[in-house]
Amino acid sequence: MYVTSLTLKELREEVKKIGWEPYRADQILNWIYKRFVFDFQQMTNLSKEQRAFLKDNYLIHSLELLDVLEGGDSKKFLFKTKDAHIIETVLIYERDHLTLCVSSQIGCAIGCSFCATARDGLIRNLKVEEIIDQFLQVQKMTKEKIRNVVFMGMGEPLANYQNVRKAVEIMVSPWGLDLSKRRISISTSGLINQLKAMAEDPLMRELNLAVSINAPSQNLRESLMPISKTNTLEELMEVLHDFPYPPDRRIMIEYVLIRGINDSVEHARELAKLLRKNRKKFKVNLIPFNPDPELPYKRPSMESVYAFQKVLWEEGISTFIRISKGIKVFGACGQLRSKRFALR
Ligand code: SAH
Ligand code: SF4
Repeated sequence: MYVTSLTLKELREEVKKIGWEPYRADQILNWIYKRFVFDFQQMTNLSKEQRAFLKDNYLIHSLELLDVLEGGDSKKFLFKTKDAHIIETVLIYERDHLTLCVSSQIGCAIGCSFCATARDGLIRNLKVEEIIDQFLQVQKMTKEKIRNVVFMGMGEPLANYQNVRKAVEIMVSPWGLDLSKRRISISTSGLINQLKAMAEDPLMRELNLAVSINAPSQNLRESLMPISKTNTLEELMEVLHDFPYPPDRRIMIEYVLIRGINDSVEHARELAKLLRKNRKKFKVNLIPFNPDPELPYKRPSMESVYAFQKVLWEEGISTFIRISKGIKVFGACGQLRSKRFALR
């Protein structure tokens, strides 16, 4: 069993079952999450017998690091799961802090036409210990503390709700990684039922919410994001307008701009119309499409990106342009794929 799949409460129960004092669980998790010690033998406040018992019966790492690709403003880590799949994690050097972009699934079932992760469909959900291990291993290799986590790597986090939720609990708990809830972002393609569950869940609704809209009309959205057939744009906007979000914070609306497809000023006007009712509740991130050798789409010109932004500004909607980091290592949004083809 993986100790990194358990909450403190669960691990206390677990050690009680083997006849130890519950505080042993606190000690174990303290080694892992505060000191980044991943070898039971080195947990010196436990007895020799206890250390040996842990070593024989429990595990910490669920991933094996295969490779690290350096990309200037980012680093991509390739990990192998126990069942021999490859997942990717990207560390991003922001101006004054580090952000870790974690994967939540192997592949993705949502099938967006512009996204490399979609290409092989969904292989499986990541387990709690696999989500947590991405953080632990990268943090151990990194001097500075990682401050932000974004669930924007491979997969649709809300399609793996229970495991993502538990990983978040480990990330924000004082006994765990102790990250601020405001520094964890969930990016979703807009699964209605899960968004409703999130709205009712005090742990999940305080995270940053990013929603990938990518198209301002039902028809266009359906053609780019098949999930939209069953999770319609209208329902999605309704959930977002109703979402109980603190008034000082904004829901991020992600919009990948693809040349000649969804990047005209008319599209910008339509998008503004969707948000207008609650314009202060949203912030739009425009992401120029990151090319992929196997996709027919193109990145728009910067002029059309600025023109798009201007329309939204004029409507009083905060709008930012996000040039994805990590392009050099194929670690940018939409370029993550569980294949080693990106290795050079
Ligand atoms: N599945 C979630 C999170 C992972 S995708 C989601 O869709 O939100 C993270 C972001 O990358 C999404 O906003 C998605 O629209 C964007 N993206 C996907 N492919 C892209 C590409 N080729 N270029 C730029 N952004 C892309
Ligand atoms: Fe999945 Fe997000 Fe890629 Fe769509 S953009 S296929 S939801 S990972």
